[in-house]
Amino acid sequence: AGWRKKASDVIEEVEQAFATPTPLLRGIADDMVEEMERGLRADPHAPLKMLISYVDNLPTGDEHGLFYALDLGGTNFRVLRVQLGGKEKRAAQQYEEVAIPPHLMVGTSAELFDFIAAELERFVGTEGDDFHLPEGRHRELGFTFSFPVHQTSISSGTLIKWTKGFCINGTVGEDVVAELSMAMERQGLDMKVTALVNDTVGTLAGGIYADNDVVAAVILGTGTNAAYVEHATAIPKWNGPLPKSGNMVINMEWGNFKSHRLPRSDYDIALDFESLNPGEQIYEKMISGMYLGEVVRRILLRLAHDASLFGDVVPPKLEQLFVLRTPDMSAMHHDTSHDLKHLGAKLKDILGVANTTLEARYITLHVCDKVAERGARLAAAGIYGILKKLGRDRVPSDGGPKQRTVVAVDGGLFEHYKKFSACVEATLADLLGEEAAPSVVIKMANDGSGIGAALLAASHSKYT
Ligand code: ADP
Ligand code: MG
Repeated sequence: AGWRKKASDVIEEVEQAFATPTPLLRGIADDMVEEMERGLRADPHAPLKMLISYVDNLPTGDEHGLFYALDLGGTNFRVLRVQLGGKEKRAAQQYEEVAIPPHLMVGTSAELFDFIAAELERFVGTEGDDFHLPEGRHRELGFTFSFPVHQTSISSGTLIKWTKGFCINGTVGEDVVAELSMAMERQGLDMKVTALVNDTVGTLAGGIYADNDVVAAVILGTGTNAAYVEHATAIPKWNGPLPKSGNMVINMEWGNFKSHRLPRSDYDIALDFESLNPGEQIYEKMISGMYLGEVVRRILLRLAHDASLFGDVVPPKLEQLFVLRTPDMSAMHHDTSHDLKHLGAKLKDILGVANTTLEARYITLHVCDKVAERGARLAAAGIYGILKKLGRDRVPSDGGPKQRTVVAVDGGLFEHYKKFSACVEATLADLLGEEAAPSVVIKMANDGSGIGAALLAASHSKYT
């Protein structure tokens, strides 16, 4: 039938436009290294901000005391408290997760921060006897804020831009710690922010606490980003005193990476154009959980229009932006039943199409596969780029001892989307090659950023 030919034409186009052959990934990794260097020089046109975190000392494990952490950055925010007990006792912790009401993501700054301060206050109210705050001290907080911030110290910084569906007037250019502190004051909550950290930096700190060989942290969640430990002397734009450790953690803000090599399709261009932040976060829009399902939706819509994939009429719901969420895409992609009945049920739920043909379900599966595979392979190329920058992409040629290299990864996309995470790992191994791959480990750092922020709050405490 004619529709079959049309469908296979569209699929063939998608396969070409979304292809990421290994040599292309190597080129992308090289571009990543080049852009990292440009960002470190503060080239005004550099897409990577390579933000200085003011974290020049990572946790040692000796941290003591009660600390709070707050993680704001995506669909949820988390509050956490830990009682740090040094190397012998490690940490006792409790946390809670609260969904951010969508209207607050596009409302006012004060509303958002008031909501957060109120939740924090409630959480502090549940502090039990396992936690001890010495007499006469304020509670201290590590604030994980997963948006690009121009830091002015370890505990202050101004917002550069919102990403990931947040769009709040009047916060850009403001000090987010001041905003939070004012809200806490309005709430009557006695707490001091002693560390402001990006989630990547928090994950890196938490990762190193758990495993000394961690050199970089990558977030694959609603958005995507990475941080790593750089030699302070390799940061031309750093004019401050050379840190004792010789190191500085850099928040790459890699979601904004661009390269002419990125395989951008018409679907990506249209998605970007209709997004809240056109022209920005181009790499993120090809990789992260906020967007993967939306890319799939756009391809399915095209197939519905041009090849009547779901029957004579295009399902009206399929026209709706973001109606297909990445967790649903993932559920469809993992359907192993011979007749793809789970995938069919999802299509019915989401698009309201009662009866899909087996062929339509197979085509949908294939589309999910191509979109997820491209995202995962591009993420792996980015990680490979960081390892190249650090000289950790190969075994020492002088026959010196093999170094173990660990990359801590956090985020719901990597954690829950197994085909995606498996593809990241396989692609990275492929890029590294047989010799180097065994010494590089990707480690899931579940909510490492929360504990990391608390550890950084501890090492920057007013009382030590
Ligand atoms: P955030 O990135 O918002 O701080 P998380 O790290 O928890 O929070 O990631 C949440 C994101 O992970 C969701 O927005 C979604 O895109 C993705 N995600 C969550 N569950 C799944 C799943 N089962 N399959 C695929 N992606 C998922
Ligand atoms: Mg997060």
